Amino acid sequence: MNNGLICVSVCSETADEFNKKVESASEVADLIELRFDCLDKNQIEEVWKARASSKQEISTFRPKEQGGKRDLSFQEREDFWTSGNFTEWADWELELFELKVSFFSRFSICSHHDFNGVPEKLNVIYDRMNATNADVLKIAVQANDATDGLAVMKLLERAKADNKNFIPIAMGESGVWTRILGLSRGAFMTFASLDETGATAPGQLTVQEMIDVYRVKELDENTEIYGLVAESVTHSVSPQMHNAAFKFHNLNAVYVPFAVKNLEEFMRRMVNPKTREIDWKLRGLSVTNPHKVEIMKYLDFVDETAQKIGAVNTVKITESGELRGFNTDAQGFIEPLKNTYGDIKNCKVAILGAGGAARACVYALKQEGAEVTIFARNLEKAEALATEFDVAFAQLDEEVDFKPFNILVNATPLGTKKGGLENEAPAKTVQLGGLKLLYDLVYNPQTTKLMREAQAVFVPTLGGLSMLVAQAMIQQKIWTGLDAPMKEMGAAALRKLEGVKRL
Ligand code: NAP
Repeated sequence: MNNGLICVSVCSETADEFNKKVESASEVADLIELRFDCLDKNQIEEVWKARASSKQEISTFRPKEQGGKRDLSFQEREDFWTSGNFTEWADWELELFELKVSFFSRFSICSHHDFNGVPEKLNVIYDRMNATNADVLKIAVQANDATDGLAVMKLLERAKADNKNFIPIAMGESGVWTRILGLSRGAFMTFASLDETGATAPGQLTVQEMIDVYRVKELDENTEIYGLVAESVTHSVSPQMHNAAFKFHNLNAVYVPFAVKNLEEFMRRMVNPKTREIDWKLRGLSVTNPHKVEIMKYLDFVDETAQKIGAVNTVKITESGELRGFNTDAQGFIEPLKNTYGDIKNCKVAILGAGGAARACVYALKQEGAEVTIFARNLEKAEALATEFDVAFAQLDEEVDFKPFNILVNATPLGTKKGGLENEAPAKTVQLGGLKLLYDLVYNPQTTKLMREAQAVFVPTLGGLSMLVAQAMIQQKIWTGLDAPMKEMGAAALRKLEGVKRL
């Protein structure tokens, strides 16, 4: 548990809508930020006519260059603040404090926003802010890589030593981890949006995600931290699955997304206990595209399965600081297949695609004694993978007849929502009749075009969600030693995929 607060920012052009949002926000937030700069000029006065909020409110009137919604002249800002028509708490930009404009508020936040990156002299900006008489200091910078968030987290440590209330924010997908972990490390407040469409700054999560998924107010300095390392993390359902498992077991642990471009820097500055610049109980990582192969060179140990597959998707960081790598894709792939199909020894299996997922599938199928053929659009890639694992390969095109096979596995991204591939399939109905099972690794949507093509000729199908949950369950076991709750993890994944807002 921590003492931090969740503030929901409210932004609308009309007073009516603004006040409705304030009412909804007051049901879930500790405090509400009233973003007066979002309102049309003539609507500002209107806001005060019908108010219904039971929560503490913060007034903000931000100019565009500091992240506000519209251009505001200095005169307009001065007029707003000298009108006295704002709440007991107010957020003023550093420059206003330094101009020593005297406004009337009992409680003040001094803020600085940088939407271009992390300013080189962030410490100097902090010093200037610290010299004001503000009750709280807030610094928000743009993170272009996960490591950019370190700067504001280091300032949080300084602020604690200075006995100052501080709000550290790294904006953007790469900075989300600072929004989630800030309160656990002593931040005064974190910001959230009311819903998916209401974010007032890049990377802001919804208040439901903050409370239901990440449980940010329950976290503290003893919280064990796990995370997803990927180039893009926004659409991942892993945080939902893993946090559901931690909640089920009542563990003081959280799973956080890390959008990472430079893996070397991330491993050195945030992960490796010998070199990292943040003192935290980081215990494990899920690793996905494009880092599954490169991560291996930063680990102290890689288990035999991961070595044979040539990729690591799970890292455990031991109490003694050792980094151990595993691969749960192969087992996560094979378990649902065997549960659905039964024994696959001598089964004829066609795999479509020759990428990372296909590698794990081929390895797992060979282990089980299946007869594998790899089909890929790029025959050279199919051949290279087939040679490595001593299996057959062939060209993937519309002429292939898959009837001689028992099982067909789609390990290409065709059919997935991401990237607009939803209406595509690597094979058509005429090619699929006679199969005993079609296993599509794509999990969003749950029923892909390829699955519908197969169902048209009564071929049973298995979607990729089963593998997604199974591999995550194995990760949980590696990290915590506990049996993971399949039902809760699957339901949490589905909620995110189906866009359900509230648990
Ligand atoms: P990857 O490494 O990029 O490999 C993708 C493979 O698909 C490559 O062989 C690629 O061929 C081929 N491909 C791409 N577009 C194609 C097209 N239009 N026609 C034919 N082949 C095409 O990706 P991955 O990591 O293996 O993932 C593949 C899919 O499996 C993704 O949709 C991913 O979400 C899914 N997956 C699901 C799970 C799960 O838990 N359910 C786990 C892992 C992966 P080229 O090399 O010629 O580009």
